[in-house]
Amino acid sequence: MILKEKAAIVTGGGRGIGREISLLLAREGADIAICDVNKELLEGVKKEIGALGRRCLPFEVDVTKMQQVEDMLLKILDNFKKVDILINNAGITRDALLVRMNEVDWDAVIDINLKGVFNCTKAVTKPMMKQRGGRIVNVASIIGIIGNSGQANYAASKGGIIAFTKSVAKELASRNVNVNAVAPGFIQTDMTKKLPDNYKEEMLKMIPLNRFGEPLDVAKTVLFLVSDASSYITGHVIKVDGGMVM
Ligand code: NAP
Repeated sequence: MILKEKAAIVTGGGRGIGREISLLLAREGADIAICDVNKELLEGVKKEIGALGRRCLPFEVDVTKMQQVEDMLLKILDNFKKVDILINNAGITRDALLVRMNEVDWDAVIDINLKGVFNCTKAVTKPMMKQRGGRIVNVASIIGIIGNSGQANYAASKGGIIAFTKSVAKELASRNVNVNAVAPGFIQTDMTKKLPDNYKEEMLKMIPLNRFGEPLDVAKTVLFLVSDASSYITGHVIKVDGGMVM
């Protein structure tokens, strides 16, 4: 186990990629605080982490609400006494071509995907600086690098996360806090399940490794970025996309 006695926070940990990251970090010995907006999902993951012999604190918290995030941090520090790892994973899509995109969908995506990352990162910054150590991994997307028709809001949020990652990496490097991002391609979760079959067929043709990614593919990369194996890496964006964007 490579994360023994580490304390981690995973946002959007109730399902999909966040759930898989939570379980993998727990299997490697970390205690996990998960936050999500869905209470039932949180309870399910809490049971799974408990079965692995690790502590799990579930929080019904909306990452867009700074006060909720700060209250959560206080409770985590009270219980775990420290925070070693933050995984900013919570994210949504509200796809539409720009001509049809409304302000509500623009704001929702920017708020959850980008402001949520700001809120949670800001909340852990002081404790991590005090500890003189920490790891932050932000879940971006290849869409934040290459853009995508129908996803101007999502691309802007994920591109913003990448720029945010590099800036904060520079700010926190002297305190031994590494800040990196992963940029998944097409990963099989509820988020991508709703896409039309013909779109998925077209996507598959663009993936050199000739398969869609699994949440575990992303989780393993996140594990690398929070482990000692990546201690000299900060401000980096690792694509987890089967070679889709080179
Ligand atoms: P998912 O299955 O939809 O899971 C996202 C989780 O985040 C859900 O549990 C969701 O809660 C939670 N969430 C949503 N809004 C929240 C908020 N305001 N506060 C706290 N939690 C919130 O999505 P996923 O596919 O696992 O995606 C995870 C991350 O990977 C996202 O940032 C996404 O943009 C990124 N990503 C995914 C793919 C892909 O192909 N799947 C590709 C590139 C990047 P609910 O259950 O209530 O919705």
